[in-house]
Amino acid sequence: MTVSFKLRALVCAWTWASLAPFSAHAQDEQKTPPPYSAPNNQIRFGNTALFRNLIPPATLEAQSAEEYAQVILDAERAKTLLPDTNPLVKRVRDIANHEIPFALKWNDRAKSWKWEINVIKSPEERMVCLPGGKIVVYSGLIEKLHLNDNEIGMMIGHEIAHALREHARERLGRQQAAQLSAGGMPQLFGFSNYPSQQSDIGDELLSMRYSPADETEADVIGSEIASRAGYDPRAAVTLWNKIDTATRRADVGFIWLHPYGPDRRQDLLKRMPDMMPLYAKAVGKTIDQLSNYAGMGRFKKSGR
Ligand SMILES: [Zn+2]
Repeated sequence: MTVSFKLRALVCAWTWASLAPFSAHAQDEQKTPPPYSAPNNQIRFGNTALFRNLIPPATLEAQSAEEYAQVILDAERAKTLLPDTNPLVKRVRDIANHEIPFALKWNDRAKSWKWEINVIKSPEERMVCLPGGKIVVYSGLIEKLHLNDNEIGMMIGHEIAHALREHARERLGRQQAAQLSAGGMPQLFGFSNYPSQQSDIGDELLSMRYSPADETEADVIGSEIASRAGYDPRAAVTLWNKIDTATRRADVGFIWLHPYGPDRRQDLLKRMPDMMPLYAKAVGKTIDQLSNYAGMGRFKKSGR
């Protein structure tokens, strides 16, 4: 899970050169909540965070690809990487491949991402989409929580949205800015005097804890992508309720990484009127023709 010194040096040099012009504005940017709207049936999110500009996207994508390759290699060696013929792998890839065409408009670079989707046999209940479109699902998430296809669709949409909106790049940029402003060298990129205390970008990427604002953005964009691909947006609520129940007692459980409380649940419900028409259109029905969704009741156009 190591990152080459050359790559680290490249990133650090870029960061030093880039920090000054951005830091003055970054604090102001943070005070403004990310706006969203759904004009002309199109969900939008603006307000690009400036911290992400501290790390070039190509660099982070390269590091993510390296980290991903290591995770897959480790799983192969442990004989826990499920093969292409495995039904769960086919199911997850089918759902992700339905969604990817609807994801591309959210990030110009995503069109050239080399998307990869793998499933690792594991009791762990989590998944991640690393920057650059590298998806790994741990089978415990689907098997132990008995996720249906709509819930898997909403889960993949949410994770893809984190990658598309470059939340990891922003978080890592913040860490660097904090280290630099404290007079230190960014440990993240390998310049610590104490190698054993260096942060490992691979671990950072795999156990990224997102902010409530990141979660809201990933919910909105992820639901939009998955709904357009034909997955029921009502499943987002049952999905996150299941994850909350299953992982909230773990120290670094999936719900700790993706904070979920009453506000986020209400947000998911509040946006349903924006998402349901996209889903209905994708499955060739009117909203009135849609059936009830288990655990959620019937959606009414007028009822928010
Ligand atoms: Zn999240």
